[in-house]
Amino acid sequence: MAVEEQMRGKYAALAADAAAGLETASAQEILGWALETFEDRMCITSSMESAVLIDMAGRLRPGTHIVFLDTGYHFAETLATLEQVQERYPVEIKVVRPRQTVAEQDALFGARLHDRDPDACCNLRKVEPLRRALEPYDAWASGIRRDETLSRQDIGVVDWDDNRGMVKVNPLAAWTQDDVDRYIAEHDVITNPLLAQGYPSIGCAPCTRKVKPGESPRAGRWAGSDKDECGLHLDPPTSTTLNLTGGSFINLPRGQ
Ligand code: SF4
Repeated sequence: MAVEEQMRGKYAALAADAAAGLETASAQEILGWALETFEDRMCITSSMESAVLIDMAGRLRPGTHIVFLDTGYHFAETLATLEQVQERYPVEIKVVRPRQTVAEQDALFGARLHDRDPDACCNLRKVEPLRRALEPYDAWASGIRRDETLSRQDIGVVDWDDNRGMVKVNPLAAWTQDDVDRYIAEHDVITNPLLAQGYPSIGCAPCTRKVKPGESPRAGRWAGSDKDECGLHLDPPTSTTLNLTGGSFINLPRGQ
């Protein structure tokens, strides 16, 4: 629902206080605070790259809601990881899909929209579905880290997501890849097999390639373009104008 208008100030202040108080806390303490504070009014998003946050949530609060965006373009390995995660962890996984199938999108906008206008494609297949998925909640969490991209370097362990009117929790904000690897090894966490096959960052198949030696871990995402975010974690989310086949234009939603 995102928080009611009169509650926005209160929740924004809560997020600021938590960000200051939890900056040096462990990821489990940050996630634990969030789950205790928001209970069923919170969810965690997962791309099924690894189940680190899902493992933590399953231990801290069984039944935690996990949102997975099934874009229709995932690698088979990612969907297989989803199945394994559903079988092992005591969490409630909600699979959310775009309003249109890939075939319907192709019919409307032409094939391979991801090649011609990836922001438009991400809006249709990720940003809009996430907006719908987050409607029942007051807070959401994800596994993004400060060391992943320039646009993520200033994220707090707890933020106020003003665009969505929600508290955003980033328990792994201060973690490095070594921290992630250590947690995975210590807790035998399920990981996407593509991680071990040269894909250190995994998104949709058409927009993800293997990383070459010496490249940054996210170099394989939208390779050859300036794009380095799908828009889910931008504030405000990416907006775009899409050229329809008839030559007219529509404005795609900014995170709506
Ligand atoms: S990552 Fe690529 S295929 Fe996936 S939604 Fe974005 S543009 Fe489309």
